[in-house]
Amino acid sequence: MSPAQTILKDVFGFDAFRDGQDDVVQAVAAGQNVLAIMPTGGGKSLCFQLPALLRDGVTVVISPLIALMRDQVRALREAGVEAGALTSGNTPEETDAVWEALEAGRLKLLYIAPERLSAGSSLGMLRRIGVNLIAVDEAHCVSQWGHDFRPDYLRIGELRRALNVPLAAFTATADAETRAEIVERLFDGQPPQTFLRGFDRPNIHLAFAAKNNPRQQILSFAAARKGQSGIVYCGTRAKTEALAQALREAGHAACHYHGGMEADDRRHTETRFQREDGLIVVATVAFGMGIDKPDIRWVAHADLPKSIEAYYQEIGRAGRDGAPAETLTLFGPDDIRLRRAQIDEGLAPPERRSADHARLNALLGLAEALHCRRATLLRYFGETEVKCGNCDLCDSPPEIFDGTQPVRMALSAILRTEEWYGSGHLIDILLGNLTDRIREKGHDTLPTFGVGREYDKRQWQAIFRQMMGHDLIRPNPDRHGALQMTEAARPILRGEAQIDLRRDTIRDAPRRPAVKA
Ligand code: ADP
Ligand code: ZN
Repeated sequence: MSPAQTILKDVFGFDAFRDGQDDVVQAVAAGQNVLAIMPTGGGKSLCFQLPALLRDGVTVVISPLIALMRDQVRALREAGVEAGALTSGNTPEETDAVWEALEAGRLKLLYIAPERLSAGSSLGMLRRIGVNLIAVDEAHCVSQWGHDFRPDYLRIGELRRALNVPLAAFTATADAETRAEIVERLFDGQPPQTFLRGFDRPNIHLAFAAKNNPRQQILSFAAARKGQSGIVYCGTRAKTEALAQALREAGHAACHYHGGMEADDRRHTETRFQREDGLIVVATVAFGMGIDKPDIRWVAHADLPKSIEAYYQEIGRAGRDGAPAETLTLFGPDDIRLRRAQIDEGLAPPERRSADHARLNALLGLAEALHCRRATLLRYFGETEVKCGNCDLCDSPPEIFDGTQPVRMALSAILRTEEWYGSGHLIDILLGNLTDRIREKGHDTLPTFGVGREYDKRQWQAIFRQMMGHDLIRPNPDRHGALQMTEAARPILRGEAQIDLRRDTIRDAPRRPAVKA
């Protein structure tokens, strides 16, 4: 057994490394600069804790959450490792004990809160105690446009330069911009050894469906899985209550959960879900943070999540035990409009807003994917070698057709009406419907009037939805959601690029009117 394996077993009590852990441990132990991107729950902490024990001197761990630090310190001490934390949550006695262990050269891991880095005395202290490795947990906190930006993280680069020791950064956030920012700010732009592993959850079946009768779609999905524990995520609190009711009426054990409930009721539902078999919780995204139930067999989204990261995290609650689990995500044009509006009407600075649009686009691209969902999803996270066979598109590859012509017709209708209209009116133009509004606006004289009769209304709706999914068109928040063309559409309009669309969602579009959930 290698020294690393011995420590893994004797100190941490694990029989084997998880996929990807051993490579990271080796690189960190060897003193390389490392950036490791692993999903939440993937076992990142071991990747700096174990090398800390293999190396001489002290490993400094910077982590944004005091509770998390204290937790890890407690667990390490229980395993017999000398670890301590310097945070604002310490009692004077705790702080004294940490200093004593440091002075005596006993301490192997010193956790410090990022705020401590701005105290002038810290650097001198860290120089003195023989730091040989800096580990940065939640490294995406250096990203100014991320959701967890921590200004104190910007000092870590300075610290690394001053101490001149290797640095290992860890995060679950994998998008390329965040990664680039981490490299820039923590490693002065010198690319570290980068590891990206473990994002695939091969036992989770991935599937999306266009929303046509959402309540019925969720009910049949649940009916096929009766007696299994599942979560249905909804976009609004009201919907969680209505859908839970509908599921109960269909004979399921179901309850709702959202942030507007009393804390006691929420806790009660959490405990029930944890203990009971076969309960369905219909919830907003408020549900899940503290849920650690290994045998959740399915997760359904009655509404589109807000980003590809949110999607990944939410479906990731299924099948933690490794046994087969299933997911279904419903999406429609209203979801896309709502999500765009939430971003545009939010208080975030413009740069962050465009990053949020990009995260939503990535999810829409996944929803409208033409090939394997898993490959599409993992490509976003940076994984390139993907084996699947466990998604709806691998099960039955969709038929694809060259949609350039209808897409150009739609774009032309949008431009000739000066980007002032929504899809309903635009489709009337394409179909040549002589509505009052068309007459009033004189749109029956447009060259685009009636050019799209080859498709019917439902088919055009599917085409518009796919165009939104490919980010060729976007609702304009300043014009009540009127559709505007994006830069991405320009080459198609000019005839310089071609676009594939899925035929199935167009051909099989339901004929009867959609029923609102
Ligand atoms: P992260 O920080 O990546 O979210 P953690 O480091 O908290 O994840 O690890 C998640 C869980 O996985 C912990 O309960 C940890 O004990 C466990 N774990 C980590 N590595 C292994 C391993 N090699 N074998 C079994 N369990 C592991
Ligand atoms: Zn697939």
